[in-house]
Amino acid sequence: RTVYVNGEYLPETEARISIFDRGFLFADAVYEVTSVLGGKMIAFDGHAERLKRSLSELDMDNPISTEDLLEVHRELVRLNGIDEGLIYLQISRGAASDRDFAFPDPDEVKPTVVLFTQSKPGLAETVRPMKVISIDDIRWGRRDIKTVQLLYPSMGKMMAKAAGADDAWMVEDGYVTEGTSNNVYIVKDGKIITRALSNDILHGITRAAVLRYAEEAQMEVEERNFTIEEAQNADEAFFTSASAFVMPVVQIDDKKLGGGEPGRVALRLREIYLDESLKTAV
Ligand code: PLP
Repeated sequence: RTVYVNGEYLPETEARISIFDRGFLFADAVYEVTSVLGGKMIAFDGHAERLKRSLSELDMDNPISTEDLLEVHRELVRLNGIDEGLIYLQISRGAASDRDFAFPDPDEVKPTVVLFTQSKPGLAETVRPMKVISIDDIRWGRRDIKTVQLLYPSMGKMMAKAAGADDAWMVEDGYVTEGTSNNVYIVKDGKIITRALSNDILHGITRAAVLRYAEEAQMEVEERNFTIEEAQNADEAFFTSASAFVMPVVQIDDKKLGGGEPGRVALRLREIYLDESLKTAV
């Protein structure tokens, strides 16, 4: 596989970054994951905009223009022959000359930019009814910034796996925040309910698109908190992310939803999302 590191396209085995890179030492880095369908990037502009916001919230210089970034995405898709898959992009504050908590002077370090592709044939066709467990949300308070601090979400995935489930929904002060790597929704009496945006959750690019399409299709949307108990008593549940699109959830802890079958609203939204987002793929 060919990867991109700081302006160069290299075989993955030849790509190198410093052991003093702050992404490695301090998780001082932000990232984006964009899906590729039919060799084109889905919701590219949304991801590019959120990347800029993440960088600016952390006082990091933006080392690459949106046009250049798109060019790198396209070149990696071409070099790796990606039809369906994902592109991972990470920008760290760079490698300072030594390990020091304080941010280095921006004139002395260059951000590290890394991109690589993951081929996932069948990504758009794969609908897997998901089982989730609930776990405490003990992450930091700026989940709206897409940083690479992903240890707790990784542990959450392992807790889910150990319980025979696929993912974990995190709960804070009695209310569901989000999944380990997705935004979450319930449906009751035809109404789609999802937590409102704040610093408590990532502002999902897929979430924004799905809510827009839902409203265009005259579906009712309510942005508010909900508990695990309310979710367990909902008609259906689902989650969204750039890599899973819209994915039905059929079990929350010990409670099955919709007799274990994917919900109609989730499946319809998935279809609309895939149709509509392909129209604006670049
Ligand atoms: N919430 C978290 C914690 C995530 O990590 C992600 C995606 O990685 C999402 C939500 C979904 O965001 P998006 O739709 O932009 O992929």
